[in-house]
Amino acid sequence: MWLDELSAQRSQVDPDADDPFAPPDPRVGTIYLIHLRKRMGHAQHYCGFTTDLKRRIKTHKAGGVHAARLLAAAKDAGITWSVVATWTGTREDERRMKRNNDLARTCPKCREKVLRRKAAQQRRVYAARKAAEECVPVST
Ligand SMILES: [Zn+2]
Repeated sequence: MWLDELSAQRSQVDPDADDPFAPPDPRVGTIYLIHLRKRMGHAQHYCGFTTDLKRRIKTHKAGGVHAARLLAAAKDAGITWSVVATWTGTREDERRMKRNNDLARTCPKCREKVLRRKAAQQRRVYAARKAAEECVPVST
């Protein structure tokens, strides 16, 4: 008896929760990350959302007004690019990724370089701090 109550409760929250034949959630699609072989100004990545990745990539490759502005400009500049990562998600997830503004660290092609650069910077800061400490005159 309580099982019926439980499933009734659950179907109020999400009617398709247990239905494998439920239609796919139209809000869910593919988030994709594009890495440009060369920087366009400050940008080297483009992140987008689509429900039809193949078609969207074709549109981006064609350039012009239907492509993302960055990718259209890259095409005009002769800069090639490739999709380096995809995730299943919603437009909100895509916006969150763009807001975080850390696409280079998400990019498999750039992640290692970014982390190496950060480590080198930390080592420099540490060395400078240590050198400064060693130069402090010892009062006697
Ligand atoms: Zn990258």
